[in-house]
Amino acid sequence: MTGTFKTLSDLDLKGKRVLLRADLNVPVADGKVTDATRIERLVPTIREIVKHDGKAILLSHFGRPKGKVDPQFSLEVVASTVADLTGHPVGFIATDWVDVSAAKKAIDDAPPGSVLILENTRFHPGEEANDLELARRMASLGDVYVNDAFSAAHRAHASTEALAHLLPAAAGLAMQAELTALEAGLGAPKKPVVAIVGGAKVSSKIDLLENLVTKVDGLVIGGGMANTFLHALGHNMGKSLCEKDLAETALRIMDKAEKSGCAIILPIDGVVAWHFKANAPTRLYGVDAIDPDGMILDVGPSSIERIKGAIDDAHTVVWNGPLGAFEMHPFDAGTVEIAKFVAARTKAGKLVSVAGGGDTVGALAHAGVKDAFTYVSTAGGAFLEWMEGKPLPGVEALKA
Ligand code: AMP
Repeated sequence: MTGTFKTLSDLDLKGKRVLLRADLNVPVADGKVTDATRIERLVPTIREIVKHDGKAILLSHFGRPKGKVDPQFSLEVVASTVADLTGHPVGFIATDWVDVSAAKKAIDDAPPGSVLILENTRFHPGEEANDLELARRMASLGDVYVNDAFSAAHRAHASTEALAHLLPAAAGLAMQAELTALEAGLGAPKKPVVAIVGGAKVSSKIDLLENLVTKVDGLVIGGGMANTFLHALGHNMGKSLCEKDLAETALRIMDKAEKSGCAIILPIDGVVAWHFKANAPTRLYGVDAIDPDGMILDVGPSSIERIKGAIDDAHTVVWNGPLGAFEMHPFDAGTVEIAKFVAARTKAGKLVSVAGGGDTVGALAHAGVKDAFTYVSTAGGAFLEWMEGKPLPGVEALKA
């Protein structure tokens, strides 16, 4: 048992039919999986089940078939990749999720240690409706339930929520690693904790900022969203991306931070360009003197030094969102330099670093340090909801 949720070692897997909620919602082009990261993360759990002569029966959503059987969203397409990565033959079991008797027979007929993939759970409307009848049908196909799909845990769907209450349930090894890392990031972190939040807009991250200021000791705000805060403080942001209508919200967040003892670290200088394109000519400005026709596309060197100072004092860093328009040179410089700095501090054993959500993984990969952080979550929406402090139904159900 880890914390309040059960893990794989709490379950008796021997000879059992193990329903494994996986995230097989991987990108596919021309009938081939183009990024198998999510499948790679499942391999240790599948191997553990097989090692105990259990049957690993994978169930997952795939795309948006809108509750209907739609062959273009069939999960059969991922079977060969799962087979390649696990080194096991993989059987695919078609079902419309209305009548599961044939699926049940196929599972019963499969020898111990089999790896099987069930058809897309979203072929039935009950999946997204968290329908108990559908969950009961799913439960009839297994003896125990293992959830290894953290990236789907923010959704209360039949295969992530209702089903977990119907069978002995536990987190798989990937889910366990993710929850342990997140616990070290914000749950019970080594203080001081600094959060770095960047990205385009405040509007998409209000809940996240509101939650973080009550939990962390320092909040670094960068990217386009910093402009809204600087505008709220009376600075002219020129033609920079800026949500002026959110000035009140920004002030409220800063006020809440002050009351909670959280230092807000905003940029003090910015790399300004006059065209939103790669290699556009740039000039450096202090945030109190931005050219009225220019736009800030990255944090400047003085800001970078300030951010490094904050990280230097921290024992834990939690990061979501790039500090500039990192897809375009030279506006990737701030994000890359800070990412490398966090990576080096982590490597030196001075820092626990947890990052994730949206463009963050791409930004860290671009900086060449994706594997140098303590943990990088590829979960997207679930990671953001965790940063927002919201309970994740798929995780909560494992605690019951
Ligand atoms: P998000 O999905 O909210 O994390 O936002 C990521 C996007 O924010 C990336 O595409 C960045 O290019 C963009 N971004 C970051 N900083 C800026 C900026 N200063 N101005 C415009 N876009 C930015």
